[in-house]
Amino acid sequence: MDWLGLKARLLAMGNARLTGEGAEPYISASTAGPGAGSGGSIFFSTGRGRVRLALGEESPVEVEHRGGGRAVLRNGGLIVEGVLEPVALHCPRQAYITVTSGCIYRCRYCEVPEVAAGRKTVEQIEEMVAAIADRIDAISLTSGVLASVEEEEEYVTAVVRRLSRFGIPIGVSIFPREGTADRLYNLGVAEVKFNVEAATGDLFASMCPGLDWEMVWQELRRSVDLFGRGHVFSNLIIGLGEDDREVEECIGALCETGVIPVIRPLNPAGELSSYARPNADRLLRIYGIHARLLRKAGLDPGMSLTMCPACTGCDLVPGRDGPL
Ligand code: SF4
Repeated sequence: MDWLGLKARLLAMGNARLTGEGAEPYISASTAGPGAGSGGSIFFSTGRGRVRLALGEESPVEVEHRGGGRAVLRNGGLIVEGVLEPVALHCPRQAYITVTSGCIYRCRYCEVPEVAAGRKTVEQIEEMVAAIADRIDAISLTSGVLASVEEEEEYVTAVVRRLSRFGIPIGVSIFPREGTADRLYNLGVAEVKFNVEAATGDLFASMCPGLDWEMVWQELRRSVDLFGRGHVFSNLIIGLGEDDREVEECIGALCETGVIPVIRPLNPAGELSSYARPNADRLLRIYGIHARLLRKAGLDPGMSLTMCPACTGCDLVPGRDGPL
């Protein structure tokens, strides 16, 4: 099976049973990304790409760790040799840090509000990065919202100021307000990710009560002026109830703006635990749309430095998992 087909199938299933030798250094327990707050995940890689799989005892996918990171993935007669990648912080080769866990907002698909609220101090974060600085290519920061969007941005910018001494590209993904793009750019941040989350404004309003979709678009447009085309990203979740035409329109609008869409399959959680994950056929169909519209806009996720387009664990990424 080709890598793209295999990864689509694995993302549609979403998890794996880990067997074999002990695999502690290869297990990520995160408070960010799909599976936040769950029992951890692994990054299985072949020479063709990387996929993140949440750990689940009942999964039809088995990953057997044979020691030293060597691993074999088995699913329905399929056997694929690969490796488990060591996790730096949250994902391989990056310090991807959730500054504030927990959130005052209640986006319906998100598990973060269920995670106990907590905030790392600037000193803690600096120590975490210092401990692995020789093993990473990027620092990525994300955050829930502890008190308000304004206060969160101020806190995250204090973290950025402290981390700039490492000289490693920093990506930031927070909920933006008026002027967030300018402030992050002036601090020397390399890339930003502001998430449109849903394919339409109506769907966003029903999924993310109290948050402003137009503000996300405004700051995305401004970010492209500042950070440059291809260094601004936006998550678009697939499986919230949108159809493929709406997905295509949203991907098209992001690409025309110069923003790289991160096409994220829904992890049914939170209030949406009864929803279905998108199946592999739909993920591959949308991959085709995504690749075509990126190509048309002259955008290449393969050039990104930080955050999800540089990691690729949770999504099919044109230019990394397959040709553009
Ligand atoms: S793709 Fe993004 S959310 Fe997923 S593991 Fe990588 S950095 Fe985390």
